[in-house]
Amino acid sequence: MTDERRIPMVDLQKEFQRLKPKIMKEVEEVLGSGRYILGPKCFAFEQRLKAYVGTNHAVGVANGTDALYLALRALNIGPKDEVITTPFTFFASGETIAEVGAKPVFVDINADSYNIDPNKIEEAITPRTKAIIVVHLFGKGADMKEIMKIANKHQLRVIEDACQAIGTEEGGKRAGSIGDIGCFSFFPSKNLGAFGDAGMIVTNNDVLYEKVQELRNHGSKTKYHHRFIGINSRLDELQAAMLLVKLDYLDLFLYKRKKIAKRYTEKLSSYVKTPAEGKGRAHTYHQYCIELKERDHLAKLLDEQGISSEIYYPVPLHLQEAFQYLCYQKGDFPISEKVSKHILALPISPELSDSLQDKIIASVQRFVHGS
Ligand SMILES: *Cc1c(COP(=O)(O)O)cnc(C)c1O
Repeated sequence: MTDERRIPMVDLQKEFQRLKPKIMKEVEEVLGSGRYILGPKCFAFEQRLKAYVGTNHAVGVANGTDALYLALRALNIGPKDEVITTPFTFFASGETIAEVGAKPVFVDINADSYNIDPNKIEEAITPRTKAIIVVHLFGKGADMKEIMKIANKHQLRVIEDACQAIGTEEGGKRAGSIGDIGCFSFFPSKNLGAFGDAGMIVTNNDVLYEKVQELRNHGSKTKYHHRFIGINSRLDELQAAMLLVKLDYLDLFLYKRKKIAKRYTEKLSSYVKTPAEGKGRAHTYHQYCIELKERDHLAKLLDEQGISSEIYYPVPLHLQEAFQYLCYQKGDFPISEKVSKHILALPISPELSDSLQDKIIASVQRFVHGS
């Protein structure tokens, strides 16, 4: 099967073709304006995004990793501090903790939500613990009610890594708006994707807002006067302008993802483990993941049939070479380790047609029947 006919994880080319006239108009406008950094498009996107997420403030940054890094910096987290997160996430959730000089402390996930297990947080808290980075993995909302209770009891700050969860809503609140700071990524394949790197920090806290605004721009508010050591992490006008176009379609895109997920679950739940339904249902399906013992075998078979699939994530953070210095061992986080061996993400994209969904469903069903 040729590459063009493969079913991709997410069909960004098709989406671009659909939005092309609106996007190209924005591109021309920005290129003609002579304003390329921290101009009106970035400002407008910040205004629209904070309204969408439901916070008082939003600050555009260069990517989601910087958003996490700057959130930690704004909270004055550094050497001698500990920050709790899960080992079952994208590397950046733990990497940024180390980048500010703090120590990542991992807590295992719940086997159904794939998010941090609130019942295991308290045993990981020490006098040095300063914050929790809560990841809303695959678009599924973490148990913020329980997590905020624990954080308030122990006076910990909460950073939401909502990079995969824009628009995920529970009890009238959207992911990113519940903790002290929320972080978003607009990496192209995310549910709201730019045409390059982009990110955003949201908060209701005026002091944190001021600080993040300065930190992203060399620690400077007034040109050539620097209050802090910051970094250069700004959101380009071009990316902001194109993201403004796509933001208008976000709810439609999320609706389509949820519809596909519902169909997958209806047809596959008696064959493989499908995403958890029931209490705490909020999910925007950045990824639709199934679990089965013969995961690698199914991935190979799908590949032969021209169907993409991906393993998120094959190696939990505590077993990564880069984190060897933390001295974690195999077996320390059994749920994360088990899930990493069985999980497989199927293609899910607002552009995925019914007939392609059927093809994927039939392939999985056939595989399970035959094995
Ligand atoms: C994508 C992602 C990030 C990093 O975002 P970038 O924009 O790629 O830097 C961080 N955390 C999670 C959970 C992500 O999925």
